[in-house]
Amino acid sequence: MVVISGIAVVDLIASGFERPARPGELVYCSIRTSLGGHACNVAADLVRLGFPKSRLRAVFPAGRDIFGDFLVRRLGEQGVRARPVLTDKASTALDLILVARGEDRRYHADAGANVEMAAGPVLDLVERHRPLLYYAGGVGLLGRFDADLARVLRRVKSRGTLTFVDVVSPYRKNWSFLNKALPSTDLFHCNADEAAALSGERDPAAAARAVRRLGAGHVFVTLGGEGTVAAVGGSLLRVPAFSVRVVDPTGAGDAFSAGLIKRLHGLAGRGRGLAGLSPEAWTGALLYASACGAVSTTGIGTTTAVDGAKVEALIRRQGKALARAVAVERAD
Ligand code: ADP
Repeated sequence: MVVISGIAVVDLIASGFERPARPGELVYCSIRTSLGGHACNVAADLVRLGFPKSRLRAVFPAGRDIFGDFLVRRLGEQGVRARPVLTDKASTALDLILVARGEDRRYHADAGANVEMAAGPVLDLVERHRPLLYYAGGVGLLGRFDADLARVLRRVKSRGTLTFVDVVSPYRKNWSFLNKALPSTDLFHCNADEAAALSGERDPAAAARAVRRLGAGHVFVTLGGEGTVAAVGGSLLRVPAFSVRVVDPTGAGDAFSAGLIKRLHGLAGRGRGLAGLSPEAWTGALLYASACGAVSTTGIGTTTAVDGAKVEALIRRQGKALARAVAVERAD
């Protein structure tokens, strides 16, 4: 069983125009809605990768509004049993994304209900289902929940559950909010900028080692098309990226996390948790997660291109060569 919690966002994506409207001007375009935020993306990706729906539960913050209903319905359509933690203090988070032809995306986000996320419903879900793994995504933007993170993770770990923390740049606070939580974090994922800001080390490998010294068990620093650096067990692994034709890179980190969860759930489920996993086993899990990240970039949207069969096909085509290119060093 896996329990997922974290930020949830409704993306309003405007596309099909040459340039954003000038002040006072009206531009007609196509506007569609889509699920966003770590909790929604990772839960949807897990199902798309073939993880059993019956062994997955998700909980996310929402306002009492139609956008919260939209998130529950869309996740439900994908087979994800999701429970909103409703608040009266804010509305469901929205991200207005403008995609002008030939230009990088413009994001305009309202953190909304995410900053009001309460810890109680997460702990209830963990108590009820006793999952093998608990994933907290978008930590840094979760206001009340972030302030409670160390206590939540300690409680979750005391039930024998593995903890996985995935961060975003902290919203209206600094990185020190993580200090007490890292020693109760078994798996930690961030990107190069986040790793540098958290650790003070620009080099991703040095940053991964430094985050481990701060207390995290296994650290994954993802570098987009440059691949991944992971401080796992006693080793530091440098895993190159798969070669794909990139259409839209948003959501690659969430697909990577979902792939890692799927693989590690299988490995940890066989008995001794993650203790004693060999560098070869870690390499296999990282290649799978990297393939998930790579496949997610081949279509528009955060989760639409994620597909278990495409991931397997990519690994069949490139996996052996990539495995040979993985560099292994000592972690300390
Ligand atoms: P985030 O979305 O958190 O910034 P990344 O962009 O680092 O995450 O992507 C996560 C993983 O997905 C990378 O480590 C890599 O394995 C894969 N990935 C991302 N972008 C590409 C790309 N352009 N080509 C191949 N693989 C990619």
